[in-house]
Amino acid sequence: AKRDPGTSYRFYDRQLHISAGYQLRLEADLRSALRGKELELYYQPRIDLATEEVRGVECLLRWNHPERGLVGPDEFIPVAERSGLIVPIGYWVIEQACQRLRESAELGFPGLVFAVNLSFRQFHDRKMTETIFRIIFNANVDTSLLELELTESAMMHDPEYAQRCLRELNQLGISFALDDFGTGFSSLTNLQHLPISLLKIDKSFVQDLGHSADAEHIIRATISLAHSLQISVVAEGVENEGQLEFLRQQHCDEIQGYYYARPMPWKDLVQFLTNRDQA
Ligand code: C2E
Ligand code: CA
Ligand code: CA
Ligand code: CA
Repeated sequence: AKRDPGTSYRFYDRQLHISAGYQLRLEADLRSALRGKELELYYQPRIDLATEEVRGVECLLRWNHPERGLVGPDEFIPVAERSGLIVPIGYWVIEQACQRLRESAELGFPGLVFAVNLSFRQFHDRKMTETIFRIIFNANVDTSLLELELTESAMMHDPEYAQRCLRELNQLGISFALDDFGTGFSSLTNLQHLPISLLKIDKSFVQDLGHSADAEHIIRATISLAHSLQISVVAEGVENEGQLEFLRQQHCDEIQGYYYARPMPWKDLVQFLTNRDQA
C-alpha cells in the first residue's frame, strides 16, 4: 500500500523534541540520510488556470527512513535548520531538481518550471550564490526554468546580503517566488524592491474560503496588488471545486493543491504528465 505523503507517520514524536539527546540522534540520522541517499524529492504540479496546463512543479523533500518509513519535511527541516545541515541538504535539493529539469526536457516535457524551497538558514552561507551558480553551471540547465521559493522572514537575518544574493541569482536567469504570503511579516516594500516574479498565497487563506469573509477579502486584495506590480499569483492548498471557482473568478494565475494532484515521486509525475498529454 502507498503511504500518503501528506500524512507521513509521526515516529519523531513531538514530545521527544524536548530532549537534547534526541535532537542529536535525529541530526546524526539526517546526516547519514544525506550520505546514504535516503532523501528523495516529491513533485507537486502547478496548474495554469487559463490554459489548464501544468506550468511547473514544486519540489518537496521526503526522507525514506529505512525503519521509520516516509518522514515529512515538517518533522526534520527544523532540526536540519538548527544544526545547519539544511545548507548541504539545500544544495542537494537544487542539484536533484536540475537533474530532473534536464530529464523532463528529454522526456518531452520542455518548459516545465522547477520550484525549490530555500530556508532562511541557507542565507547564512556566505557562498550561497557561488555554490548555486556552480550547481546550475555543471547541470547545464535553462536557468529560466528554475524558481526559488522563499518566505519574507528568510531575508530578515541580513536583508542586504539576502537582497544581493537574490539580485545575483536573478541575473543568472533564476526567478523567485514569495512563499506563504500573508502569514508572516508581509511587507509591500519587499514586493517592490526585490526581484520577485511570483507570489504564493498561503494555504491557510485558501482553506478558510467559504468560512471566512476575511479570507476572501485578503485573497482578492493580494491578487489585485500582485497583478498591479506585474507579479503572478499561485494559490496553494486548493482542495475543492468551490475554492477553485473563487480563485478563477479572481483571476488567480495558477493553483497547486490536492484537487489537481498531490506531491508524488518522480516516476508518478512522469506518468501524470504523460496521461495529461494524451487526454
Ligand atoms: P510549503 O513550501 O508551503 O509547501 C507546501 C506544502 O503544502 C507541502 O507540504 C504540500 O504537500 C502541502 N500541500 C499542497 N497541496 C495541499 C493541499 O491541497 N492541502 C494540504 N493540506 N496541503 C497541501 P510538505 O511537502 O509537507 O512540506 C511542508 C513544508 O516543508 C513546505 O511548505 C516547506 O516549507 C518545507 N519544505 C519542503 N521541502 C523543502 C526543501 O527542499 N527545502 C526547504 N528548506 N524546505 C522544504
Ligand atoms: Ca513552498
Ligand atoms: Ca507555502
Ligand atoms: Ca511553509
